Amino acid sequence: MVAVDGPAGTGKSSVSKGLARALGARYLDTGAMYRIVTLAVLRAGVDPGNAEAVAEIADTVQLDVGQSPDDQRFYLGAEDVSDEIRGDAVTRAVSAVSAVPEVRERLVALQRQLAAGEDSVVVEGRDIGTVVFPDADVKIFLTATAEERARRRNAQNVAKGLDDDYAGVLADVQRRDRLDSSRAVAPLRAAADAVVVDTSDMTEQQVVEHLTALVAEQAGAPR
Ligand code: C5P
Repeated sequence: MVAVDGPAGTGKSSVSKGLARALGARYLDTGAMYRIVTLAVLRAGVDPGNAEAVAEIADTVQLDVGQSPDDQRFYLGAEDVSDEIRGDAVTRAVSAVSAVPEVRERLVALQRQLAAGEDSVVVEGRDIGTVVFPDADVKIFLTATAEERARRRNAQNVAKGLDDDYAGVLADVQRRDRLDSSRAVAPLRAAADAVVVDTSDMTEQQVVEHLTALVAEQAGAPR
């Protein structure tokens, strides 16, 4: 089991998928799970800031997530919501929803269930090495400067045909960093035994190669 944590825009998802491919492992995207619950909250017309109502939805929502690094589909009930969970509405509301303790309780239990098994799995998120799997074989914490993360996210947006808005993206990156690292439950931070990798000056391919070597090295070392 490899835990990959870090803030938005470090290339965490692409790199985690690439690492899972290189290791022949499954891949679990826990951020997508918070996004599915957030979509359910928005569709129910519930204010994401209303913790009690959000907790009620988290209790009953049915979600399903794919674990292949090559074909990742996400479901709310039987509906494929893979594209919708990446949209602006969900992205804006997800930090508030993921700060609700009942949401985290339910999703952490589900993450432990989904990742169970003898085969290897790369689990990506914010609190995997600290809370969900404190005994993970290898813990990686990816970082990059806020400016570099905003630059990458903005370039992705432009490639998708969205507006070129570096300043807006940077403000959003900083806002999410602040919310995710200051929340009371499971704030974003590196586990004491995580390897911190700054990806600011590395390409995606370089990061995947670096992490694959790191996993090989740590898996061979006695814990
Ligand atoms: O990784 P992604 O950007 O899809 O995550 C969306 C949001 O879900 C994060 O900004 C964070 O608020 C929340 N999250 C979390 N714990 C995780 C994964 C994601 O709180 N393990």
